[in-house]
Amino acid sequence: MSLIVQKYGGTSVGTVERLQTVAQRVAREHRAGHQLVVVLSAMSGETDRLLGLARAIQNPPSARELDVVLATGEQVTIGLLAMALEAEGVPAVSYTGAQVSILSDSAFNKARILAIDADKVRADLARGRVVVVAGFQGIDAHGNITTLGRGGSDITGVAMAAALQADECQIYTDVDGVYTTDPRIVPEARRLERITYEEMLEMASLGAKVLQSRSVEFASKYKVTLRVLSSFKEGPGTLITTEENMMEAALISGVTLNRDEAKLTVLGVPDRPGIASSILGPIADANIEVDMIVQNVSADGSADFTFTVHRNDYDKALAIVQTCAATLAARAVLGDRKIVKVSVVGVGMRSHAGIASRAFRALASEGINIQMISTSEIKISVVLEDKYAELAVRVLHSEFKLAEDP
Ligand code: ADP
Ligand code: ASP
Ligand code: MG
Repeated sequence: MSLIVQKYGGTSVGTVERLQTVAQRVAREHRAGHQLVVVLSAMSGETDRLLGLARAIQNPPSARELDVVLATGEQVTIGLLAMALEAEGVPAVSYTGAQVSILSDSAFNKARILAIDADKVRADLARGRVVVVAGFQGIDAHGNITTLGRGGSDITGVAMAAALQADECQIYTDVDGVYTTDPRIVPEARRLERITYEEMLEMASLGAKVLQSRSVEFASKYKVTLRVLSSFKEGPGTLITTEENMMEAALISGVTLNRDEAKLTVLGVPDRPGIASSILGPIADANIEVDMIVQNVSADGSADFTFTVHRNDYDKALAIVQTCAATLAARAVLGDRKIVKVSVVGVGMRSHAGIASRAFRALASEGINIQMISTSEIKISVVLEDKYAELAVRVLHSEFKLAEDP
């Protein structure tokens, strides 16, 4: 008998029929003797709909009240699934984040889980019940409802699995695993049997939204065995595991695309100590996260400073940079929302030179201009004009022959 946490995403619970299909799958595992905790998202589109309602009344909405509204989406699906399970003859009980005591901090809209009352869940499991838990939500120490950031049901699933020391955390979605790139962009993309936590974390943070990046970080930290599977079709899915468990490290595991960033450039600032901090200091003070940073010094001794932020923070960042630029007597400030970031990820890069130059050559051969570059031990990212997004993903996917079996 194993204890399994299954998380179903929005499309998997998007209609009554799909909820019934989920109930049948859960019932089957329950009858096979397993203990099951099921974590659900809201029906697909529901969180966006609720966000729209909130924004129609107050823009930006009050962070606390927004969480009160957004958390309702998951409350609907858990109640319905518990009913569908009972209809299948399986005893079940649903809990909201507050009811099951998913204690979080008070950072509304992006709260972090602090603790989970695992005993309560264990008691239900011991009585033969399936426990259905609302994803994406928690409660803070003052009793306020919180949400965990978009895509946050994944982290509820992983945190539940960690708290219960479950044998496996299964993430059911609309694709049958993690692919070498988003199969919606490259239909020939290949499903990966296994991928390391480290690579999955890079891929998720660089745009592969199949898993929320914080959930991968959490799974890696607490050694939760994580598997991505399809709720529509049977199959082994993709196992996220440690590097030791990999048969052979692939050179490159995947290519990702991120359309959520925007670029800011300050031209002609004096080349002297303290410039970077006088531009990025106020950005950090405004709680804006900076991703890539590039500084160039030209022959005349002045410097150009470029960095990227999340597109949602662009307007705020631009206003801050314009103020800084005036104080620094910079020549100009340029902003660009029409950029994307394309990345190549693989632990094999550690031991192989020349991957970056191969990637750059492949992009050049298609006439794709690279605006910014950043690298780490296991990834290369480039910033490009957004019109090249899908072409760049396809070019890199084919350059590294990712559609072929390794
Ligand atoms: P859910 O609602 O189940 O949480 P998501 O929409 O968050 O599902 O994630 C699944 C989607 O992630 C897929 O439909 C796919 O288009 C996208 N995706 C992006 N990159 C990848 C990748 N490398 N492998 C698999 N799916 C990916
Ligand atoms: N329903 C939430 C969202 O759409 C959480 C999730 O689906 O994981 O972001
Ligand atoms: Mg998701």
